[in-house]
Amino acid sequence: MTEPLQISELFYSIQGESTWAGMPCLFIRLAGCNLRCTYCDARYAWEEPAVAMTTADVLAWVRQYPGILIEITGGEPLHQAGVYPLMQALIEDDRRVLLETNGSLPLANVPDAVSIIMDIKCPDSGMAGRNLPENIDLLRKRSQKQCADEIKFVLSSVADFHWARDMVTREQLDQWVTVLFSPVRPLLTPQDLARLLLDHRLKVRLQLQLHTLLWPDQTRGV
Ligand code: SF4
Repeated sequence: MTEPLQISELFYSIQGESTWAGMPCLFIRLAGCNLRCTYCDARYAWEEPAVAMTTADVLAWVRQYPGILIEITGGEPLHQAGVYPLMQALIEDDRRVLLETNGSLPLANVPDAVSIIMDIKCPDSGMAGRNLPENIDLLRKRSQKQCADEIKFVLSSVADFHWARDMVTREQLDQWVTVLFSPVRPLLTPQDLARLLLDHRLKVRLQLQLHTLLWPDQTRGV
């Protein structure tokens, strides 16, 4: 029998990131993370005690919101083996499922029906050494199967921007996957990042965290 899921929080909000930004969304935040990014805004997911729940418990909560988009996030959700039966159960419930992952764990067993939003960690995160290069190859293969995946760079500085731009160019990411560049405010302002994107003619999407604009004083449940 699968271990129960360790849940940090369940909440219903507006999707603030990715190309799904603006959509009402159910968030399943799994506890625990194998990384320690300098800018982490979800430390409570790995610092505070979790609540044990079964897949059936989570499904019962989800079913109170018929048809609503679902995001599984963390922490690092792939850190828990129970995430796989959870993804399968949500797909069988006919849901559109997004999986936010930090890119440091293998993606090979994520179902094709799940949209992966994978971070590539930049140097200022302190975690760039943890990116798994084979995950890029796997996403490339999934793109040939029309999987709706996205790659996200969280940028803390102009140096991070240039590092990310070199990666986009080298892997030709903008040719086969949706690429998101997201600034860490106030270290890099949205205005400065917008100017850099335009000046360098990059075909990537500027991502602002919509939930932080809607609810600037809330750090959880949004
Ligand atoms: S991977 Fe995400 S949850 Fe984990 S430390 Fe980094 S920002 Fe925080």
